[in-house]
Amino acid sequence: MSAILLQNGLLTTYTDRDGPLSIPEARRVDLLIDGERIAVVAEPNTVQAPTGALTIDCTNKWIAPGFVDTHRHAWMSVSPHQEDWTLAEYIAKAPMTTTRLTTAEDIYVGQLSGCLQALNGGTTTVVDHFHAANSRSHIEKAVQATVESGVRSMLCVSRQSTPTSLSPFRMYDEAEVSKMQLEMLRSLAEKDHGRLCPDGRVTLGLGYDFQGHNPGEDKRVLSMARELGITPITMHYVGGPHGMSTDHKIRKWSEAGLLQGDCIFSHCNGLVHQNPDPKEWELLKETGASVAVTPEDELGMGHGNPVTYECVRRGVKVGLGIDCASIVSTEMFPAMHFALQWERGRIHEALSSRGKGIAYNNLPAASAFRLATLGGAEAAHVSSKLGSLEVGKLADIVIYDADSINLAGCRDPFRGIALHATGADVETVIVNGEIVKRDGKLVRKQWKEVAKQLKHQQDSLRERLARIDLDEQYKAAMPILRVPVE
Ligand SMILES: [Zn+2]
Repeated sequence: MSAILLQNGLLTTYTDRDGPLSIPEARRVDLLIDGERIAVVAEPNTVQAPTGALTIDCTNKWIAPGFVDTHRHAWMSVSPHQEDWTLAEYIAKAPMTTTRLTTAEDIYVGQLSGCLQALNGGTTTVVDHFHAANSRSHIEKAVQATVESGVRSMLCVSRQSTPTSLSPFRMYDEAEVSKMQLEMLRSLAEKDHGRLCPDGRVTLGLGYDFQGHNPGEDKRVLSMARELGITPITMHYVGGPHGMSTDHKIRKWSEAGLLQGDCIFSHCNGLVHQNPDPKEWELLKETGASVAVTPEDELGMGHGNPVTYECVRRGVKVGLGIDCASIVSTEMFPAMHFALQWERGRIHEALSSRGKGIAYNNLPAASAFRLATLGGAEAAHVSSKLGSLEVGKLADIVIYDADSINLAGCRDPFRGIALHATGADVETVIVNGEIVKRDGKLVRKQWKEVAKQLKHQQDSLRERLARIDLDEQYKAAMPILRVPVE
């Protein structure tokens, strides 16, 4: 791996010294990458490129950290059409259909596409909640595709069975699946301390949604994960009207003695809905456990309102994510828009209900950029090495074309990235010191080839899905979901 000099670019980064609502200033720099790390950040046109180094002229570019997506199911890029689903539909229809019917071949293509989509949009790190670990080969294919893509991933393999019947609710192969998943988790963790590829870009985490169903198993799985250094541990917690079955999950994890600073709770809408539990906020702060908000699908599917800025106000670690590419955008840009603008809208509505208008927005656009970069790294418990561009940190970097149609009229890159940019403005992406997107094109894979495979595999999955009556399925699931829908 040789050195890369990014010359005379506009450095756009938060650092640990900036608060969540501060507005840092961009400054022009030379940034030298040596191997996998940032070696030098210095005044522009002062750094001499080492012999053999690649120099990229960044005069009309913005240099920013890659996004850290704190909640994504990369494999779901192979799932067809779920854009109009509510959360209740998703819970009823997906696990017994798409998830259960998905083959290891589907997983490979979905996972590869999902990871490449992330990179293309400037997301360099994903906390990937892999909840289709149906067999050894499903897990192996997910690892293989993630490693091949070049993305940095905390691949959180789920300890979870899919239901074989909804009414009555049964998982007849639970014992067998549990044994297989735990053996796989152990062997992946022990092989190279949880590093799933030689450069450590892909590491092993755990997805664990079923805490409370079998307390003995909870203890066994969580102690094993923590003994083996499997991190982070992530789980869905919706709460509120659409997620009664997951209500008060933070409190439940704490009461079971399982809550620690390696946990990431996805969504957490119940923290601001009916009968919120103030103790749960305290527990998050005390332990350092974090929240992953995916505002676009939460708003569209009925999870409840996003808790992003409530976390910021309360000093709880929070990041953003996209959740599923089958439901919303593959890019983090909309996640920033929804997080910020929904919160502003909420404040405006509260004022207007008292007959008042708003004089100033007190949440800066730049704060959304922080949530998607350093905030995400904090929430994923990796901010000591990722999330900002500083000497010693890993070189996960996005270079934006500041002359693009979207960005040329915007002089402040923090605002530009938060509200004006799209994946089309992401010109170059570097992960771990390696260029994975260059001049707007993915480097490791030909997307056209991947697209062909994706369409082929999705057609095949669609055929398998067509044999199931999804609406029957939905009706059967309602009593279990305990969702008072209308
Ligand atoms: Zn999810």
